[in-house]
Amino acid sequence: MKVVVIGAGASGLSAAIILKRRGIDVTLIEKNKQVGKKILVTGAGKCNYFNEDFRSCYFTSSDKMRLENIITKEHVEATKDFLRSIGIVPKIKNGYYYPSSLKAISIQNSLMTEVKNLQIPILYDTTVKRITKDKHFSIYTNQEVIEAEVVVVATGSRAYYDTEEPSMILKSLEDLGHTVMPIYPGLVQLEAKGDYFKEWAGIRLDARLSFYSKDIQKEVVGELQLTDYGISGICTLILSNTLVPLLKEKNEKITINFLDPLHIYSVEEAREYLVQRNKDLPNRSLDELLDTILDYKLTNLLLKLAKIPLHTKMTMIEKEKLDVFLKNLVSFPLTITGFKSYKNAQICLGGIAIKEINTNTMESKMVENLYIVGEALDVSGECGGYNLGFAWLSGLIAGRGVFLD
Ligand SMILES: Cc1cc2nc3c(=O)[nH]c(=O)nc-3n(C[C@H](O)[C@H](O)[C@H](O)COP(=O)(O)OP(=O)(O)OC[C@H]3O[C@@H](n4cnc5c(N)ncnc54)[C@H](O)[C@@H]3O)c2cc1C
Repeated sequence: MKVVVIGAGASGLSAAIILKRRGIDVTLIEKNKQVGKKILVTGAGKCNYFNEDFRSCYFTSSDKMRLENIITKEHVEATKDFLRSIGIVPKIKNGYYYPSSLKAISIQNSLMTEVKNLQIPILYDTTVKRITKDKHFSIYTNQEVIEAEVVVVATGSRAYYDTEEPSMILKSLEDLGHTVMPIYPGLVQLEAKGDYFKEWAGIRLDARLSFYSKDIQKEVVGELQLTDYGISGICTLILSNTLVPLLKEKNEKITINFLDPLHIYSVEEAREYLVQRNKDLPNRSLDELLDTILDYKLTNLLLKLAKIPLHTKMTMIEKEKLDVFLKNLVSFPLTITGFKSYKNAQICLGGIAIKEINTNTMESKMVENLYIVGEALDVSGECGGYNLGFAWLSGLIAGRGVFLD
């Protein structure tokens, strides 16, 4: 065969469609019975497939400089054009792109319709176990050995379905001379140390998470879920991309600002705010002053941790105890000890090092005519359509890059 794309997910489909539109014979190999299975679970079934503000600062990778050469303005615009060209009408909410139908299946359908119209053959139920290269590539599958002139690897990661097939491909790429940057679950819930989690489990709120180390400073603002093992929610998932690789070495400390939605960032600002509120609403206890600001379960827990009895008036609270309470409101300390499994993760961190990829074409610098795209690479996006966005974008570059000269 001329060109084989391994993996019919977001990146593989975009590569194959662009290749076929260029008149190049291409075949897709897919281990499942359908294309784009993972697309169906994205964005809670609505598929947040791109973001208006698509820049490399929303990604982690061991080589951010090179990533900037992949995520260029031209590539971003070309990706938007491509998505329009397969018929996707966007609904854009705060910069997040969804299909207007708000149904992930309609993205899968649009891709499949284009694949059918272009008559791109797909080998379903075909798992690639190994790739070798002599003059041409030999692709060892559970069905047969397929020879190909050009291979595009678009096999994604083991996140969510936690099957071994994407890892088998990474091993093969390693055997072909590539470096695999360490793989961890990404966009994943974080486990923490504490004996009070039963009391805050189930609370959802907006907050700011902050992590400061010698080399890294990361702050994330948004939806947070307090759970019986620690924290979840979009804020947590985004922070996990920074924290998870560090947790291999040791626990890490973060802080939570529960008053961030009120633009209160310090103990003094919190004190001033509550003193004023106490004046505006006399005859209320501290917990009553926090009504409609915090979930009462969280207020009760913060009072308990500061050893302040429920229903105490602010003026009656000892300064030290009030200070502890105010500090916990704006800078609640949390020791992160671990993270949930691949099954809970939306993506995998790590993958093929992008220093080994030609950023103009996505061709491997180690193996001629081998292209690598999507999540198989060491490129991990935040929540907000960045991971699917990178899959389409890198697939598009490879689709344009094959047989360029
Ligand atoms: C619950 C959940 C929600 C998410 N929500 C969003 C979101 O809203 N927005 C966003 O941008 N991203 C989201 N993501 C992440 C996004 O889905 C992935 O980053 C993206 O699908 C990666 O695209 P890909 O083409 O690299 O890999 P995939 O889409 O995973 O495609 C890889 C394909 O290769 C096939 N394959 C793998 N190994 C083999 C093999 N050995 N032989 C043959 N075939 C093989 C797989 O079956 C699969 O079809 C979410 C992920 C999850 C799990």
